[in-house]
Amino acid sequence: MKRFTAIIIGAALILMLAGCAPAGESGGTVEVDSIAAPIVSGYYSSQIPSTQNSSVISSAEQSGQAASAASSKKSDNTVNGPTYIKGILIVNKTYGLPASYAPGVDDTARAWLKKMFAAAENDGLDLYIASGYRSYQRQSELYNKYVSIDGKAAADRYSARPGHSEHQTGLAFDINDPSDSFIGTPESKWLAAHCYEYGFIIRYQQNKESITGFKYEPWHVRYVGVELAKTLQESGQCLEEYLGVTSKYAE
Ligand SMILES: [Zn+2]
Repeated sequence: MKRFTAIIIGAALILMLAGCAPAGESGGTVEVDSIAAPIVSGYYSSQIPSTQNSSVISSAEQSGQAASAASSKKSDNTVNGPTYIKGILIVNKTYGLPASYAPGVDDTARAWLKKMFAAAENDGLDLYIASGYRSYQRQSELYNKYVSIDGKAAADRYSARPGHSEHQTGLAFDINDPSDSFIGTPESKWLAAHCYEYGFIIRYQQNKESITGFKYEPWHVRYVGVELAKTLQESGQCLEEYLGVTSKYAE
């Protein structure tokens, strides 16, 4: 009987030790900082239809769960995206999108854009889309054209390289006149004052080129959801500042 008890206790000890071992080992893995480290979603593991992708984005904005749900992986800052940080899809000079990422215009963004245009109309202004969703291929054509006209350094200030344009996300729109002549117009002022009410931000703010990577574009709005847009409007932060990320090409 004594011997039997000893065997039971011994077996229990072995089981306990065995149970502890994996936990001890996993303690040595790297904890990924959800703010600083790019979170790469499982885009490559399955092709996500545009409708599902839209719901991922909108639910991420509501709950902020996308970042924790997505697999954590260090990005090489090229085109491993899409990258979600704090549940927000980030596309800039640091964070790119694969050529195959082609969601089309986001349904939620389109719906809010319509509401915004209706509100502007009530205020006597005519807002319309000059440019919305752009494919990787289309961006490639545009960028190459600008490089041939202005040279690479100048083109990089106002045109994104293929895979690095927010227009490829389906969440960004150029309103009315995508040129410097839009600056200071009543439409531009209205957009800057009210777009956050509809979940949009002026993505490339004045005097923030060193942070956003792009020159001032008061016509380019990006849908981020009403909650975050309000936060950014109140803080005056651009998206890079809020997320704590850079916007620089690898080379
Ligand atoms: Zn734009």
